[in-house]
Amino acid sequence: MNIVVVGGGLAGANAVEELRVQGYSGDITLIGAEPHLPYERPPLSKGLQLGTVEPDSVFVHDVQWYADQQVDLVTGDPVSEIDLDRGHVAVATRQWSYDRLLLATGASSRHLDRADRSGADVIYLRTLDDALDLKARLAGHVLIIGAGWIGLEVAAAARQANAAVTVVEAGALPLARVLGREVAPVFADLHRDHGVDLRLDTSVASVEHVSGTTTVRLTDGHALTPDVVVVGIGAEPNLELGAKAGLVVDRGILVDARLRASDPHVYAAGDVATHAHPTLGRLRVEHWDTAIHQGRHAARTMLGDDDPYTRQPYFFTDQYDLGMEYIGNVGRGGYDDVVIRGDMSERVFTALWIRRNRVVAGMHVNDWDALEVLRSWVGKEAPSILRDVDVALADLPGPDSDA
Ligand SMILES: Cc1cc2nc3c(=O)[nH]c(=O)nc-3n(C[C@H](O)[C@H](O)[C@H](O)COP(=O)(O)OP(=O)(O)OC[C@H]3O[C@@H](n4cnc5c(N)ncnc54)[C@H](O)[C@@H]3O)c2cc1C
Repeated sequence: MNIVVVGGGLAGANAVEELRVQGYSGDITLIGAEPHLPYERPPLSKGLQLGTVEPDSVFVHDVQWYADQQVDLVTGDPVSEIDLDRGHVAVATRQWSYDRLLLATGASSRHLDRADRSGADVIYLRTLDDALDLKARLAGHVLIIGAGWIGLEVAAAARQANAAVTVVEAGALPLARVLGREVAPVFADLHRDHGVDLRLDTSVASVEHVSGTTTVRLTDGHALTPDVVVVGIGAEPNLELGAKAGLVVDRGILVDARLRASDPHVYAAGDVATHAHPTLGRLRVEHWDTAIHQGRHAARTMLGDDDPYTRQPYFFTDQYDLGMEYIGNVGRGGYDDVVIRGDMSERVFTALWIRRNRVVAGMHVNDWDALEVLRSWVGKEAPSILRDVDVALADLPGPDSDA
């Protein structure tokens, strides 16, 4: 059998590793558009900016590993075409046939057209090269457009580098879509306490670049003249290749519960995949943990395993001295209630989001023993004792107990 993986990121690298772990001894080709070995992106906005992580430590495996595992690794060469009928993929000058094809093409930064057209030097943060470029320029006055995870992590790194930082956010709170109005203020306060000028309920009206000066006008009438503009307004899945080949897409390459795409020989995993999750419905998740586990799961499905992918989404962030982990998915259905234990003002607490008396998500801030307890509750019914915040999380009867 001949397996080709398109996309040399986290999902792709974990898929090829799992193929060998499972004892598959046939041909594997891993084709990546970037010039680098597959690498981890979380350090790009955190440790690498802070100088606590060296650029050469972000790779999933070193080059020798691919040779030892007999993985034909192709870097710096984007796949330009997939022929589903013939079972071929092609880069500019070569092509490969496949029996099984995994699409793990990830996502790209969403662009702010106004900024791109301005002539200003605008930074997007997706790749290792973007991160090295940003690190070299994280000084003076840094304007960050978008208070999402990446924008806020860059804000934290920039403040720790003593830059003046302004963050512009269209919403009334940072991260409100994920955390809701009860918990999102923690992140607004965190950044304000560290000296970030957080401009909420406002967005960018125009960006001009004249005689070396960049002027960013906001919809609230203010004008800023930053040294660096970082745009962090989300990502878009790299689905064009699959869509052009004729695969069904739905805000990503559509895959069933087992990560199989609409063609019987094609699979997708990671940021690019819109997955029919057995309990959460269709969702596309842009998280490190999902890329790893879907990559591995797709590998097992390609080898004939029939299990659905049921893992709950999980992600983390580190900003200043705040560490957070989140498990579950509130999703479009929203939540009725959020139960908070601990001290939000001290930034040591847990939160559980509940919809129709079922726990849909949990998170902790700086409470490092809480994750597994939170994980055990996600997806389960919420008994009344769960809402009693005088009962510590660790003292709750387990979600499956009769107590
Ligand atoms: C700065 C940053 C910080 C992050 N921090 C966190 C975090 O703290 N916690 C967390 O949970 N998640 C974090 N994430 C998200 C996480 O890194 C992603 O979810 C994960 O990288 C997705 O892995 P992937 O393999 O699906 O896609 P990617 O990592 O995007 O890899 C896909 C690869 O495919 C390549 N490709 C695309 N098209 C083609 C083609 N036609 N031919 C060949 N190759 C192609 C791309 O160039 C890319 O190298 C962060 C992301 C970024 C950008």
